[in-house]
Amino acid sequence: MPLPIERIEVPNPAAMMGDQPTNAYLVGSRELLIVDPGSEAGVELVSRAIAARPGAGVRAIVLTHGHPDHVAAAGELRRRFRCSVMLHPKERPILRNFLRWEDIDIGLEDGMSITIPEGALTVIETPGHSPGHVALWDAAGRALLAGDLFSGNGTVAIIPPYGSIVAYLDSLERVRALGPERVLPGHGPEITDPGRVIDEYVARRLRREQQIRAALDAGPKTIEEVVSELYPDILPQFRRAAALTVLAHLEKLRNQGEVEPEGEDAWHDRWRRVRIST
Ligand SMILES: [Zn+2]
Repeated sequence: MPLPIERIEVPNPAAMMGDQPTNAYLVGSRELLIVDPGSEAGVELVSRAIAARPGAGVRAIVLTHGHPDHVAAAGELRRRFRCSVMLHPKERPILRNFLRWEDIDIGLEDGMSITIPEGALTVIETPGHSPGHVALWDAAGRALLAGDLFSGNGTVAIIPPYGSIVAYLDSLERVRALGPERVLPGHGPEITDPGRVIDEYVARRLRREQQIRAALDAGPKTIEEVVSELYPDILPQFRRAAALTVLAHLEKLRNQGEVEPEGEDAWHDRWRRVRIST
């Protein structure tokens, strides 16, 4: 039987995620798992949703990754419901003061099974958006609780040094192989055609990569110059995000031996092509 899953939209402060709410999920019916309780606003919203189920208790809070818009409510909910909090240990370096590592009771690892009376979620390591990002797989329902591996609103940010496009693309292929029918993302509505969305995500990254190769084929450039060429009409407030995206792609191309910075400062120096593809 598919696991019962309820979505709760938790608003974020504008500075976090630019007004985009985060999805918290309640999994199960009486013995619940809370997946990603969200920002501080999630404390009351999730508590209320649980109070609406008389007799229900919380087995655990499971975190897909350590970003504040997913985890800030976890510490307070842990105290209220006296439940354990689970997060992958590779997320430890990205935690800030909104959640302390001391509040984590159980380290997640690949293949771990988190059981409730109606079934189980399997932990799938899906790094890329962050180093210890996981997705949670309901095999019986062919449903994936995807955190920020997917977004129902568009693409996912991959920001160095903790984000990696190489790892992200590998994680997408890993999830494709599971054959999910439903993807429940960290932001935005459910995705009902995951295979097509994965194709789009991969194609978009490869297209961007090709544009960066072409820009450097014309001569060495700084990240700022690549941004100006690729995103000529970009608004000033999005320039930094675009520059970080370009850096993430340059890091992938560097790993492939195709580009390198001219000096020690990857952020400010010009980047050049190492090998011109034919
Ligand atoms: Zn995130």
